[in-house]
Amino acid sequence: MKRKITLHNRIVTYLIRRSRKAKRMRLAVYCDGNFVVTLPKGLNETTAEKYIIGKSKWVLSKLDFFKNASLSKTFKLTSKAYIQHKEIALQITSVRIEHFNKIYRYKFNKLAIKNQRTRWGSCSKKKNLNFNFKIALLPTELQDYIIVHELCHLKEFNHSSKFWNLVSRTIPNYREIINDLKLEGLNLL
Ligand SMILES: [Zn+2]
Repeated sequence: MKRKITLHNRIVTYLIRRSRKAKRMRLAVYCDGNFVVTLPKGLNETTAEKYIIGKSKWVLSKLDFFKNASLSKTFKLTSKAYIQHKEIALQITSVRIEHFNKIYRYKFNKLAIKNQRTRWGSCSKKKNLNFNFKIALLPTELQDYIIVHELCHLKEFNHSSKFWNLVSRTIPNYREIINDLKLEGLNLL
């Protein structure tokens, strides 16, 4: 259900998604400008509004960011923008890999950021981790899921239940995040 809210004199449209599984409220602003609020069972829309107002700075900055640096279909990727995003993506992925690898402790060979048209990330048999530079534009939760997904392929080179068990160690709500990620349109390998 689409709703409107005024944040710092600006009218912002958002979509409320009710989730029985969500344990807390989540806000996500996507690169196409869609703003989705996930509402756990038992919380009403007034609570959502208060929460959004509390995060209004973050919401507006995300919306502006995607409006300006939008990587939507019409966006022409300049080499400057690509280099910038690539650097940010490399920084984010190295920091988060280090964080999650305190738990997993998997060895990998190389970490690379690429301009992949159809994927968020991949893990090769040679234990090289590759991530799409557009990961820089995703909400942290989605970034973390993508990183953990590829990290767990270092141990399980498949999508078996063993693999998903590994993922759930650090991302217990990964199913929800997969749904959010589908809105972004790229795949994971
Ligand atoms: Zn995979």
